[in-house]
Amino acid sequence: MNTLVRPPRLLQQVYPGALWRMPGRQKIIYLTFDDGPVPGVTTGALAVLAQFGVKATFFCVGDNVQKHPEVFAQLVAGGHRIGNHTFNHLDGWKHPRMAYLRNVQQCAGCVDSNLFRPPYGRMRPSQHHAIRKQYKVVMWDVLSCDFDPGLTGDACLEMTLLYSRPGSIVVFHDSLKAAPRMLYALPRYIETMLNDGWEFGVL
Ligand SMILES: [Zn+2]
Repeated sequence: MNTLVRPPRLLQQVYPGALWRMPGRQKIIYLTFDDGPVPGVTTGALAVLAQFGVKATFFCVGDNVQKHPEVFAQLVAGGHRIGNHTFNHLDGWKHPRMAYLRNVQQCAGCVDSNLFRPPYGRMRPSQHHAIRKQYKVVMWDVLSCDFDPGLTGDACLEMTLLYSRPGSIVVFHDSLKAAPRMLYALPRYIETMLNDGWEFGVL
């Protein structure tokens, strides 16, 4: 079993109030994307989502929003939800509380959202304590591992299908690094799930 795909329960207790999975027993999946917007990659994901009529949530890096405003505009125009993923994709463990919070605030300048996902899925408890007052912290239930160059797109697809369950919040990455696996797995994942009677909801 690949422990990366599903976060360990212990980790979930570190961030009280964070959302890991939506409640309920209905066959609904919540797609999320991290690290964009990136031309060619985000736009590729948007084309797939549009093809299937599926909406998702994009946790955007502020610096990428500023660099690629046209891609960001396309994302918003597509009816997708956006979330804050810091301005410079900071690792909370490596930055003091105030610097981290300033970076989140800087991202908020171009990403207007009450959703936040910490880069690398981690932050210090003191950072979380401050952020949760302003944001719903969204973690995940299934990590596609599309960022791992050691995996094939097929392996990402199979693991994501295997671990999906009612209410799962699934993470893909609209980054250059993840693009080959994400753009392979995403359409196949959506198609397989839809054919099996699943729906896609928005957070
Ligand atoms: Zn990220």
